[in-house]
Amino acid sequence: MQRSPSGFSTFLLLIVAMGAFGAVLWLNSNQAESAQAILPADVPPTENPNVVAQLLSDNFGDDSTPLPTIEIPDVQPTRASVIQPSGATATPVSAVDVEGVAVAAVPVGVTPTLPPPTADVPVQDVQRDSQPWSPPALLPPLSRDPQGRDHYWFRRALASNANNTALFYYSYGSDGQANSERIHHGIDIPNPNGEEVYATASGTVVFASDGRLGEIDIFQNSATYGNVVLVKHDFGYQGRAIYTLYGHLQASLVTEGDYVEAGQPIALVGDTGRVSGPHVHVEIRIAPEGTSEIPRYGDTYNPILWIVPFVGHGVVAGRVMDSNGNYLDDAIVTLRNRVTGLLHPATASTYVFDGTVNEVNSDPIWRENFAIPDVPVGRYDVIVSIDGRRVIRQVDVLEGMTNFVELRPPEPEPTATEDETSEDDSEF
Ligand SMILES: [Zn+2]
Repeated sequence: MQRSPSGFSTFLLLIVAMGAFGAVLWLNSNQAESAQAILPADVPPTENPNVVAQLLSDNFGDDSTPLPTIEIPDVQPTRASVIQPSGATATPVSAVDVEGVAVAAVPVGVTPTLPPPTADVPVQDVQRDSQPWSPPALLPPLSRDPQGRDHYWFRRALASNANNTALFYYSYGSDGQANSERIHHGIDIPNPNGEEVYATASGTVVFASDGRLGEIDIFQNSATYGNVVLVKHDFGYQGRAIYTLYGHLQASLVTEGDYVEAGQPIALVGDTGRVSGPHVHVEIRIAPEGTSEIPRYGDTYNPILWIVPFVGHGVVAGRVMDSNGNYLDDAIVTLRNRVTGLLHPATASTYVFDGTVNEVNSDPIWRENFAIPDVPVGRYDVIVSIDGRRVIRQVDVLEGMTNFVELRPPEPEPTATEDETSEDDSEF
């Protein structure tokens, strides 16, 4: 008798709970339907609907650069490169350096004199300065660009709680923001000696130099790289072999011929070669068409356009040109968040094309002359000074994508004659 009222109220509670559960299910199914209904038809079916991208695409202004960003012209603009002395031709340089110090060229086939190697470099626990944890990186291979132009095929070379930020003032293709360094063919990621470096994708080790053995093999006659690991990946790009290079290492954890998986420790950060402090120098090299040889110093491309951004971040890349349509060397590109008004901490310096066989390369598709990595999703002003005039373009940064912007001074006011000419030329 005493138990039946409490049994009855338990039964009532159960009925109420089942009703509430049913209502939640019904509401959820309705929400799913309405969420699907508001998605634009052109959202790629393979991608999860990106809420931020959706918000941005709903709010594009007239002067923004919505997806797809800009058409990439078929014709490459003329490069405003260093004028060669008359009669001079671009000559191969047998010795290369990767940092700011000029070194004497070492003739091919001659073993350069090196400082005595540091014997028995111990592999020790890394004493990190306190590094902020990075967000997780997106998963490679990643190509969210609707026209398939992106190739974020490589993972990060460092652990999430190591430093992942490359020195922005010595960005790829730049000669440093004081214009006093050698043109940089990679990116420099500072970390303490002994920090593990990971293979950024699977492939075969084709060169490995290990200071622990007391022997430093010289990579392509250049002692400036210090210890190097070079990986030939088991995939290519546009029919060409693709390699990643890791330089200034304390030690290599792999040997020539080893097969490595993405994320496998392959080396330790060091300060061998010409450096001002411990860091890993990362390069992307793409072999010239129709060759099976290891690509050389003139075959590098900007790693920023190949290594996956972090979750919630994208890459801003673009082209800075003068009023004649020539690439502008050494221009500093700054980003300002339109909402917060704050400057993005990293800038980039536009590539310096020196007209030699060793010059740096723009991406075969993007044809950029700068790239800024790991920019949080949002709307930005891209600011640069061209011929003494400040030029600003707006760009919306979407996650995991190259967000492209072209900066050049506005066209001068057309004269009456030019108007007539353009009318004659018009085809529609
Ligand atoms: Zn470097």
